[in-house]
Amino acid sequence: MNICSGCGNNFHSVSAFDSHRTGSYHKKARTCLTEVEMLQKGMIQQKNGSWSHVGPKDGIVAWEKEVES
Ligand SMILES: [Zn+2]
Repeated sequence: MNICSGCGNNFHSVSAFDSHRTGSYHKKARTCLTEVEMLQKGMIQQKNGSWSHVGPKDGIVAWEKEVES
């Protein structure tokens, strides 16, 4: 589990955690996406409360597929 100290949400994976953070590292302006923004980005909240990416099996193209190729 990856619990964010900023928004308190739980993330299924580090990559899911990373993708809910937005803004510039250099400007120290990293902030969390809202739940609505995460949903718009294609993330889902699982029954146990943790957020994850929608998998390819669900028919939605996941940006994580880029890592595989
Ligand atoms: Zn957060």
